[in-house]
Amino acid sequence: MHTVEITRVEEFSASHRLHDPRLSDDENRALYGICNNPNGHGHNYELHVTVAGKVAESGMVMNLTDLMAILAERVLPTVDHKHLNHDVPFLDGIIPTAENIAIALWNEIERELAPHEPCRLVRIKLHESRSNYVEYRGPSS
Ligand SMILES: [Zn+2]
Repeated sequence: MHTVEITRVEEFSASHRLHDPRLSDDENRALYGICNNPNGHGHNYELHVTVAGKVAESGMVMNLTDLMAILAERVLPTVDHKHLNHDVPFLDGIIPTAENIAIALWNEIERELAPHEPCRLVRIKLHESRSNYVEYRGPSS
């Protein structure tokens, strides 16, 4: 059987502030620049979620409708139109860089995908802008 990767792309909008409470205000400004703006700032994030698995007799790895539903109903509402520093329990105490958001989203999405084993989450790609994105391939990568 063939292993194929399938990807769903979603968007969400959120605000954040990059600020490390262990550093002084000057150190934070030097490290994070305009992303340290005291009242935060926003991004239109683009989230690419890639799942891999064997192509079943259905001809599918996983029904993309199920992946869409997981993201639309269980994941995106937790971050869309939220302030990532204040409104998202799974980011509590975490500096919401794109890297850290990708890791946190991995954990949320992987848990939701558990009933779909042996399909597995293999990549999270998070665009913070058209030019900047991060990729995360899980804790064992
Ligand atoms: Zn930002």
